[in-house]
Amino acid sequence: MIQLIRGFKDILPGEVEIWQNIEKTARLLFEDFGFKEIRLPILERTELFARSIGEDTDIVEKEMYTFPDKKGDLITLRPEATASVVRSYIQHKMYAKDPVQKFYSIGPMFRRERPQKGRYRQFYQINAEVFGIDSPFMDAQLIFLAVKLFSMLEVTDAKLHINSLGCPKCRLNFKESLSAFLSSATEKLCQDCLRRSKKNPLRVLDCKNSSCREAMVGAPAIINYLCPECSQHFEAVKYALEKVEIPFVIDKHLVRGLDYYTRTTFEIQAGSLGAQNAVAGGGRYDALVKTLGGPDQPATGFAIGIDRLAEITGLRNKDFTQKPDIYIVALGEKSRSLAFEWSCNFGLEGIRPEMDLSNRSLKSQMKRANRLKASYVLIAGDNELEEGSVILRNMTSKKQISIPIESLVEKIKAEIKL
Ligand code: AMP
Repeated sequence: MIQLIRGFKDILPGEVEIWQNIEKTARLLFEDFGFKEIRLPILERTELFARSIGEDTDIVEKEMYTFPDKKGDLITLRPEATASVVRSYIQHKMYAKDPVQKFYSIGPMFRRERPQKGRYRQFYQINAEVFGIDSPFMDAQLIFLAVKLFSMLEVTDAKLHINSLGCPKCRLNFKESLSAFLSSATEKLCQDCLRRSKKNPLRVLDCKNSSCREAMVGAPAIINYLCPECSQHFEAVKYALEKVEIPFVIDKHLVRGLDYYTRTTFEIQAGSLGAQNAVAGGGRYDALVKTLGGPDQPATGFAIGIDRLAEITGLRNKDFTQKPDIYIVALGEKSRSLAFEWSCNFGLEGIRPEMDLSNRSLKSQMKRANRLKASYVLIAGDNELEEGSVILRNMTSKKQISIPIESLVEKIKAEIKL
């Protein structure tokens, strides 16, 4: 038997209803706040991700699904959405019409990480991105939206962590102190971090290795190195969050796994997925549009992992199973042909039908109707049909009535009053 690929998964009926509800809730919320949906390709040129996410990140170094296409061009299954949204904003010159653009998108991402609960190689994200606004109020509104989405989805233990990564100006001084700190901690760092500490020291703060984490406890914090403008920006984000009563903790070592962030960064943690309890993350990326060849436009955004959200949402306690409104028990050739016709019409009238074409006994068809928890059963036996009628059985009250088959669908519709 051919099995699915490790780290990939099927989302089956029973589970998919939770996903549909998450997606529906997110769409409604974003659209209420003026966001437009954007749908982008899953494959992009490798260079797009290497230049935006950063060459020294885990994603680009180790996790991308990259391969040459037939002509030899390197292409990559997208590991995240922001780079593609930025590419699209630039390519279609959307900024020329109005630099302020707000997008959301929902779809699969691919990273070749070590699979475990809450970590997959194909996973799904809800993304939101805002271009052309540098105000801290926009950061706060995005965070507000992400937090509200969590509460709408009945996640009860969501915790917001925020930090500021400053701008290249503040980072210069910070990197110097961080590098000095790192050179005094070399014996505790993993091989990757030893290399990173020379090329891109900020990345060491993001390493999941326990010895590196321990080593970094006393590392300098970037919020102590912010320039006056970045510091003011961070204060304003905190002020705005307090205004709309969004509690937060300041996580001075939160850097996130992508190089493009500037100023505000945040993460929402929830659930008991251990290292995988970061369910959403995002922040400002003011330099990225320019880096990728566009105009100097600020931007901010976030991504929520649907897989992890689906595992912790309170929606799991709800029963989404769809029960048939009417189960047509057909007994005999003529009956089956009528059942076919009626079920087509019931479906169009919003009465969810299930017809039994198994040619089995009345008893076994009734058994299946019971198992599927049908609200009503329509019994169309050849005897009844001879007399021009069928039997409608209410499966809750167990009452049965006889109904003439002329204009049956309308009659049933009136009878069962959905
Ligand atoms: P990132 O794009 O790394 O900032 O991640 C944003 C969110 O995507 C995380 O908080 C997770 O919820 C989700 N995510 C990232 N990587 C994975 C993965 N391998 N499997 C499942 N969810 C993931």
